[in-house]
Amino acid sequence: MRQSLIMGNWKMNGSLESTKSLCSAIMEGLNADDTGIAVCAPYVYLSALKDMTTNSALSVGAQNVADQTSGAYTGEISASMLKEMACTYALVGHSERRSYYGDTDDSVADRFCEAQKEGIVPVLCIGETLAEREANETFNVVNRQLDAVIEKAGIDALENSVIAYEPVWAIGTGVTASDEQAQEVHKAIRERIAAKNTAIADKIQILYGGSMKPGNAKGLLAMADIDGGLIGGASLDAASFLEIYRSI
Ligand code: PEP
Repeated sequence: MRQSLIMGNWKMNGSLESTKSLCSAIMEGLNADDTGIAVCAPYVYLSALKDMTTNSALSVGAQNVADQTSGAYTGEISASMLKEMACTYALVGHSERRSYYGDTDDSVADRFCEAQKEGIVPVLCIGETLAEREANETFNVVNRQLDAVIEKAGIDALENSVIAYEPVWAIGTGVTASDEQAQEVHKAIRERIAAKNTAIADKIQILYGGSMKPGNAKGLLAMADIDGGLIGGASLDAASFLEIYRSI
């Protein structure tokens, strides 16, 4: 039985004050023995969240990590810096990074490796655009994005990682994949990993992301290969985020 994981992606939203309030409100809704809940916050708020979440049930992650270890990379944040901020997770390859900031399959694989070098669990985001789905390219796209990481990091590296399947057409659009559409891709991802290592395939958490809300979470999370959610918009509201968490 895989442990489930509900992860918020706050993106570039909020202020220091609102971030602290949101974090407090989420923590107030958790019990000491709750597990499998995390938020990925803007870099500049990680220090405040580190102080607030020490010894709490809520884990913290970053929304990206540099593809280099250290040096002359102005504006970048390294994995060792994130480790100092007590990050448990780092997203890599979010579609907004891929489409607006030019993150490539290759640089995403480097980011994945950098996170793992510091013991941070990379959350590898993969998924197809609407045009790719309509061209029947969904499986080719997610396989390519996954294989780029496996080729660079090795299949064993997936043991300490999470995958988030996020169809780009469902992110922030209010249109979610149907339970069956999502399950079909999750199953294919798990089978691709199983072809190389069945133990890792059985264990790896594969999250769904794309307009997950309290109203559709239950159905998605009930699917056999959907182990949790990566939640953008609905994670900015503590009550909605907690409702999704409790719907597992
Ligand atoms: C995301 O950005 O990872 C995401 C899933 O966003 P939303 O839930 O708003 O679609």
